[in-house]
Amino acid sequence: DTLINQIAAGEVVERPASVVKELVENALDAGARRVDIDLEEGGVRLIRIRDDGNGIAADELPLAVSRHATSKIASLDDLEGVTTLGFRGEALPSIASVSRFALSSRRIGEDRGAVLEIDGGRVGDVVPKPHPQGTTVEVRDLFFNVPARRKFLKAERTELGHIEEWLRQLALARPDVELRVSHNGKPTRRWKGEGDLVEVGLSDLRIGEALGEEFARNALRVDHSGAGLRLHGWIAQPSYNRASADQQYFYVNGRAVRDRSVAHAVKQAYADVLFHGRQPAYVLFLELDPRRVDVNVHPAKHEVRFRDARLIHDFVYRTLNDALAETRA
Ligand code: ADP
Ligand code: MG
Repeated sequence: DTLINQIAAGEVVERPASVVKELVENALDAGARRVDIDLEEGGVRLIRIRDDGNGIAADELPLAVSRHATSKIASLDDLEGVTTLGFRGEALPSIASVSRFALSSRRIGEDRGAVLEIDGGRVGDVVPKPHPQGTTVEVRDLFFNVPARRKFLKAERTELGHIEEWLRQLALARPDVELRVSHNGKPTRRWKGEGDLVEVGLSDLRIGEALGEEFARNALRVDHSGAGLRLHGWIAQPSYNRASADQQYFYVNGRAVRDRSVAHAVKQAYADVLFHGRQPAYVLFLELDPRRVDVNVHPAKHEVRFRDARLIHDFVYRTLNDALAETRA
């Protein structure tokens, strides 16, 4: 079983950033309002994610780390309309098979916490342990038992950079959650939670925090609905002068996604109105009925498959094209 989990880990766990992603997404799925992310040596030595979510009951800890056990999907029907971030039940067993792993938690309404340790896939016993409501996952010495994978990890700075970039991507989508990051014992970043996730989904404040004041000042607000689709967010105007291939954020139902057809639509909208050849900067959120999009394409879930890709391409193109044309008029 450890071997199967390690093989699965090859798909889910590429580097420390993928561990952080899976664990923070679990925290959010559990309703966390605050997530603490402590890292050492770019996450290779330690990743500790602590949340104040609903927690896991002591007797369910072994289930949480067993393969294909997910509490998020009860039937194939659910898979069609999946709204949580995780749903495959693969992340924890995969991560635990390639690290020294500890899962501590106290379930909401219970007065005792517990911990389950797993060493390179060897599962220990559930042991009582005081813990505030919520969950802490500790991942030490990633790939210590898979030298071939460990060899491919990059320098501390690089791995940390990947983690920070992913956190920025998340912070843009979830301004309601507080994220506190430390590296090698020093606080490095704090994304303050900004209360409820309001209709617009994102505050001007966090946009500035994430992409800089320059972007915030030059960004055009977009919000358009039609055909059961809603596209909202920010796109840079021509006055924004920074090279921005790395400032392209696109979310489908709150999930950050890479989609060539959508990227093309955005680029085309710009090219046709304003600046030829330039890489546009944008933070855009597409909302649609989850049944119109398949998120079950890739284990790491960066990709989606739209049921009506053409319609979505055209909707994105048209919305942005209109918005940009208006600024010129
Ligand atoms: P998935 O997220 O796909 O369900 P995971 O392996 O990531 O699979 O997690 C397995 C299960 O463990 C989850 O379905 C959930 O019930 C539980 N779990 C994991 N992390 C947390 C957390 N931070 N808080 C509460 N429950 C969690
Ligand atoms: Mg998960």
